[in-house]
Amino acid sequence: MRLKLDLHTHCQEALFYAQPTLETAQRIVEAVKAKGLDGIAITEHENAAFGYKIKELVEEHLGKPIIIVPGCEVDVARAQIVELYFPEGLVFRFLAHPGYPWSIRIEDYLDQIQGIEVDNGLHRVALDLDKIDALAQKYDLLLLSNSDAHSLQAIGEYYNYIDLEELRRRACAPMGKDAHHF
Ligand SMILES: [Zn+2]
Repeated sequence: MRLKLDLHTHCQEALFYAQPTLETAQRIVEAVKAKGLDGIAITEHENAAFGYKIKELVEEHLGKPIIIVPGCEVDVARAQIVELYFPEGLVFRFLAHPGYPWSIRIEDYLDQIQGIEVDNGLHRVALDLDKIDALAQKYDLLLLSNSDAHSLQAIGEYYNYIDLEELRRRACAPMGKDAHHF
């Protein structure tokens, strides 16, 4: 089933580094529902715990009104990669805003990524859409369009119509020593 999903958001930064409380979870759910999304990935910088905690609160206390995919935006050499975590340790990775702030060196990351952002609400003007499109076709990468929201209002300004099964199918087992373990 295809769902309307924004897969790159910084909800904790949007809430000025709020703690993952039930109230925080409620504010995030309201923002997501206001945009008519089915769900989001929560992808704080170098912090996967926040997304996991919000997912847990939403599912346990709010009746699962939206889908939350826990994730994290990770700094690698000259790029940022967003990781989305699925059950059984599967991780789907995509190159965030390719071309910003560094030039695209896709060959450096091909063994790590299964997707690539072709649109990003925060760094839109910096992206070379034709080049990204060509790279996605050449290397069979999933093209994604995400908000990279750093405010609640920006969540869902960009989104994908996508089947979570498609992400899961392309996802890989965690990588070696740099892998995050949860
Ligand atoms: Zn980001």
